[in-house]
Amino acid sequence: MQNNSVIDCPSCATRVNAPVIGAVHDPDSESAVVLLRCPSCNNPLLGLTQLYQTENNDWRYDHSERLWPAPSTVELNVSIPESARRDIKDAQKCISHSIYSAAVVLCGRALERLSKEKAPGSRTLADGLTELKNQNIIDERLFQWANALRKERNLGAHATDEEVTKENSQDVLSFTIAIFEYVYTLSEKYEEFIARKTVKK
Ligand SMILES: [Zn+2]
Repeated sequence: MQNNSVIDCPSCATRVNAPVIGAVHDPDSESAVVLLRCPSCNNPLLGLTQLYQTENNDWRYDHSERLWPAPSTVELNVSIPESARRDIKDAQKCISHSIYSAAVVLCGRALERLSKEKAPGSRTLADGLTELKNQNIIDERLFQWANALRKERNLGAHATDEEVTKENSQDVLSFTIAIFEYVYTLSEKYEEFIARKTVKK
């Protein structure tokens, strides 16, 4: 059996073919949890993979989906509109493949969707965020965070020659997820909570 599996290494920000150090096979299926060592940075990686048989009847490990460190994609709450969830997931994929400028563009698109839905009159993303704050849809901290990112030209920067770094794209992604969870998930949970309280009275 060939003891390698392909996995995304977060420290190298690339896909690596890593040796399998240990594996726990599921007796009821062809799946296995594998401990891998990145051949480039030597960091440990834990993945979920499938076994498959080659034409020569050899068993191989398929590509691993990373379980640790933090999986490559965060599960986003279904209360977030599907189109925005898709943009955010694609942005996460771009970062794991070191395409940082595309990740920032995708986050910008998701934020524009948010602004269009929640602050329909605004012409720019900056106006939209101000409007969201004025309507108390986002709080002061999120607004300050958005402004800090805008000042660093990470948010809403169009066609610049400046290179987007890994750190910058991760900052923009963290902010994008935070604002969507605040606007959609948190307020929805709060309203459900209040509705339950009202029923009980
Ligand atoms: Zn690595």
